[in-house]
Amino acid sequence: MEHKIKVLVSEEEISAKVRELGAIISKDYEGKDVHLICVLKGGIFFTCDLAKRISAPVTLDFMSVSSYGDETVSSGRVKIVKDLDDPIEGKDVLIVEDIIDSGRTLSFLIDMLKSRKPASIKLCTLLDKPERRVTDVEVDYVGFNIPDEFVVGYGLDYVQKYRNLPYIGVIEG
Ligand code: 5GP
Ligand code: MG
Ligand code: MG
Repeated sequence: MEHKIKVLVSEEEISAKVRELGAIISKDYEGKDVHLICVLKGGIFFTCDLAKRISAPVTLDFMSVSSYGDETVSSGRVKIVKDLDDPIEGKDVLIVEDIIDSGRTLSFLIDMLKSRKPASIKLCTLLDKPERRVTDVEVDYVGFNIPDEFVVGYGLDYVQKYRNLPYIGVIEG
């Protein structure tokens, strides 16, 4: 089945924002290496595009956590589905996420990664729904603040579909 999807953030807006964030991050990490941690699967498109806009040397690792299953409502539980390949001790870690909603996933992830003693740990998210926050999370870089609507595209899914849309959209029915 296919849904009708209304564009919320266009491909052009995403690309301009990614360049802007890349420039800021490049400046902030001058003289350092950036260890990007992509939170799968949602963060994959954003991570790839952002990495290309960072001028500091970048290393990449991937992690997969699940908090929602295939539902659109948070279960409140966070499970590590795939852990990092490499240790992060002494590294300047930048977590790259698609979206922060309740904040539960990220607050769990940050606490867990901090215990592995990185030199620093920061968070970059493409989308933020600040109204929905249940758990406090410090976000260092935000692409767009969006209203409390369920969005798909550019990595974000609805029952695993629509991740490949080049824009962020809202399912209309
Ligand atoms: P949180 O733990 O902050 O509530 O949720 C984080 C995760 O829930 C995100 O990484 C994402 O996978 C999923 N999520 C939250 N809001 C949305 C949304 O509007 N659309 C989609 N597709 N996933 C969402
Ligand atoms: Mg995510
Ligand atoms: Mg999902």
